Amino acid sequence: MNTAPFSIGLTGGIGSGKTTVADMFAARGASIVDSDLIAHSLTAPGGPAMPAIVAEFGPEFADATGALDRARMRQLVFADAGAKARLEAILHPRIRDGALAAAAAATGSYVIYAVPLLVESGAWRERVARILVVDCREEVQISRVMARNNLAESQVRAIMAAQASRAQRLAAADDVIENNDGIAALTPQIDRLHALYMKIR
Ligand code: ATP
Repeated sequence: MNTAPFSIGLTGGIGSGKTTVADMFAARGASIVDSDLIAHSLTAPGGPAMPAIVAEFGPEFADATGALDRARMRQLVFADAGAKARLEAILHPRIRDGALAAAAAATGSYVIYAVPLLVESGAWRERVARILVVDCREEVQISRVMARNNLAESQVRAIMAAQASRAQRLAAADDVIENNDGIAALTPQIDRLHALYMKIR
């Protein structure tokens, strides 16, 4: 398939507001392709990545439903960088293919790929016309994730330490949405960018 629609890569640190922002673009007619959802469906019961995962890591990495045993895999890849690379070698090409297929089938005015680790995985740069970063102060990020996921501050900081820094993300951005304040402060920023994307698509 050769139909590459005009596309934007949306990223941001954990809890920065990517999903909130993506929903607001969707309400204006954009199609959202969410790499986390694709990764999840690849490793759901009977998911298309499960045979390769079981072949590589063993049947104990599938739970009773045939889905990935996420806790077990998290433990393994946390302790073993080689295992992490082997898992990524299975998942990343399949996520990419799933995302491109979803984008080719999308019917919105343009496509927004929501990719948490877009800046960390350089290959996305060449697939999108622009990179949009949702930015917020670290304290805001920490308090939102602590509230939403019921985590301790140290746990949130550990996740953030494994992601690109705020400065690295901003350096990669063509467009930035600032999300330090209430939801209402997002509306004019989304309206402005939506108008831009409709104009240049
Ligand atoms: P993750 O990386 O964990 O998937 P995310 O970047 O998609 O997170 P959201 O899920 O959109 O972030 O937002 C994180 C939490 O903060 C959610 O509970 C959301 O409702 C809340 N939130 C986001 N933006 C705002 C805002 N401007 N005001 C108040 N709460 C917000």
